[in-house]
Amino acid sequence: MVNKSKFVEVAFPIPARQLFTYLIPEHLRGQIQPGCRLFAQLGNRKALGFAAHILDTPPAQIKDLKPVLHLLDEEPLFGPELLRFLRWTADYYMASLGETFAAAYPFSPATRPRMVKVVLLNDRILTSEQIPEDIQKPNQRRVIEFLIHRKALLSPADISRELGVGPSTLKTLEKHGWLRIESREQARVPQFAYKGDYGADLTLTSDQEQALALIERALRQASPKPILIQGVTGSGKTEIYLRAIDTVLRLGKTALVLIPEISLTPQTMDRFRSRFGDRVGILHSGLGQGERYDEWRMARHGERPILVGTRSAIFAPLENPGLIIVDEEHDGSYKQSDPSPRYHARDLAVVRAHLAGTLAVLGSATPSAESAYNVRSGKYEGIELRQRASTHGLPMVQLVDMRGRAGDEAILSRELFEALWDRYENRQQSILFLNRRGFATSLICNHCGHILMCDHCSVAMVFHNSQRLLICHHCDARKPPPEYCPACTEKFIRQRGYGTERVVQEVEEKIPGARVVRLDRDTTRQKGEHDRLLTPFRQGESDILVGTQMIAKGLDFPNVTLVGVLNADYALSLPDFRAAERTFTLLTQVAGRAGRGKHPGEVFIQTYCPDHYSIQLALTQDYNAFYEKEIRYRRLIGFPPFSRIVLWRVESTIEDIARGKAWELYSILSAALQGHQGVTLLPPVEAPLYRLRDFFRWQIALKSRSLPAIRSLLSNKALLKFITLRRRELRVIQDVDPSDML
Ligand code: ADP
Ligand code: ZN
Repeated sequence: MVNKSKFVEVAFPIPARQLFTYLIPEHLRGQIQPGCRLFAQLGNRKALGFAAHILDTPPAQIKDLKPVLHLLDEEPLFGPELLRFLRWTADYYMASLGETFAAAYPFSPATRPRMVKVVLLNDRILTSEQIPEDIQKPNQRRVIEFLIHRKALLSPADISRELGVGPSTLKTLEKHGWLRIESREQARVPQFAYKGDYGADLTLTSDQEQALALIERALRQASPKPILIQGVTGSGKTEIYLRAIDTVLRLGKTALVLIPEISLTPQTMDRFRSRFGDRVGILHSGLGQGERYDEWRMARHGERPILVGTRSAIFAPLENPGLIIVDEEHDGSYKQSDPSPRYHARDLAVVRAHLAGTLAVLGSATPSAESAYNVRSGKYEGIELRQRASTHGLPMVQLVDMRGRAGDEAILSRELFEALWDRYENRQQSILFLNRRGFATSLICNHCGHILMCDHCSVAMVFHNSQRLLICHHCDARKPPPEYCPACTEKFIRQRGYGTERVVQEVEEKIPGARVVRLDRDTTRQKGEHDRLLTPFRQGESDILVGTQMIAKGLDFPNVTLVGVLNADYALSLPDFRAAERTFTLLTQVAGRAGRGKHPGEVFIQTYCPDHYSIQLALTQDYNAFYEKEIRYRRLIGFPPFSRIVLWRVESTIEDIARGKAWELYSILSAALQGHQGVTLLPPVEAPLYRLRDFFRWQIALKSRSLPAIRSLLSNKALLKFITLRRRELRVIQDVDPSDML
């Protein structure tokens, strides 16, 4: 029965969590459904919102209700399964429903499908014999003949060009009804050159067999537990995903695959496409708006039963999902930091699968402590793959103690340099990893100690040699390096620390003739640059790849036999309870790039903290030993997975306002949490990154073992009011399960 209700609750993409009730005008009754976009008056502007609920009974206050002005969608954008999931997401992350809908449908109303003109032959003409006598002009007959034999739909322009006939020939044929020219939608989908099949006929290892059997069993259950595949790098996890997807498709369902970073996309896509062809869609932020829009619509219409995408693809409109895979589930890029909803796509994958009664599979060589804990506590099923699928074992890892090394060895230790030289001579490839782009990490005055800081952020500016500029890595502010110290006016400015640019220079000086490629955010600003730099490396046209975290994950170059980590300790210095986990994970992932082909791999880790457990255990790449240490520490400090954290950040361009409002929020929260057990609310502190883009930042953290305490905040009036408080110079951010607290 069509719902002829007169009222609709609308969610606007604004921080306010409240919904607004509107009158449905006569001509739209029965047409508006939850998940349709519409325009309505909000305050003094006409705003785009999403229908959230159709009301069966009139609201308490009917007086002064405004009407819906205009309906944009005849069909809801989200099916029932997705709608339910989006509502859950908004609640959990304390976001507004409107913001959450907007995250799931990030297209402006102006985005339209691309239309092309196509020429269609009259249905009665199927063979040359059926060409009517009336068509006598040779050009006209040629067109008809051509259309009978064409393999794909063609536009009038294509045909004119192909046959050398003028547009009037087609017009005449159209006028007589022998052909039709129609507008059709054409998808703007990114092109992939996929080359050959990888391993559809491989014989699975017994580890792989077991993992696949576990998955296939779960796929046939009603509400299966999530499965965590803990498999060393190169153990053949992707091959397991591919086969599981094959099963899912045969069950008549769809599959969603989340992958961490854009740099992985071409390779991963290549593997999925080579196996499943056009059935694979892709969604990531590197696509143009039009491309993304078309991929979204193809997924919605069931034309792409497999979707591979980054974080935001968790909201993809796949119908009837049968499997949700999260590859490299530990990866930090699954967490959205801005704008709201500040969701974690891995956690949401588990939730979406649960709500839909289907299976979530998480995979990693180094699972997050949270996921591994869920296996130990019985919430997830777990399976381990301990060996590489291909011939070689894991690479040999060595630590290089950098303490006391200076001068010539400050960047490249003797050990690492000799190994690099050896690979170069033997025509094998190497990767050097470090976490900093640019040339020097800061400029300092040797006379007075002044460091050249960003004018808008409380961080040092990084010197980039190729541009001869100081650049802030947080706000991208730029200025030329001064010749004289701005503090003491002496001329003693020196460079400190090194980045990727400097490493390239160092290597080129020490190994003349070596061909070095640099891969970092500076060299990959443009679309397609990744491929342009990596393809020659893959083909052996360069010897050494120097890069940032972009190269840490997923890349599979068989001829790479040496990996050097230049500054392993970088993450350990950050004030973050996940610092050890990040370090261990990064080292293990980077090490995993070595020895993936027929030659064994070797890894050198340069460190100033050779005794730290995250570094010691990276030597043996012993995840389980690392986990045991890490989880004991987490339990001791009562951090996740033993509690939940909610972080509030109050930011203002005016220092006093930031501080004052932070304390105001603190008293609201203290009052709201009164009487709840197992809750620790920490008083406001300056954020470690105190100033960012001219905003002064204060933060308040809540550590809670009780979910109801956090839930109770959702309906707290004073808090809701405070959060939506907006002035130009003030921002309030709520982050549930924050991934960094800088
Ligand atoms: P992971 O995703 O765990 O890093 P991949 O699935 O990428 O591992 O596999 C690593 C390499 O091993 C790939 O080149 C893949 O083609 C190969 N491989 C996977 N499974 C097998 C197998 N059963 N036998 C031989 N090679 C395999
Ligand atoms: Zn800055």
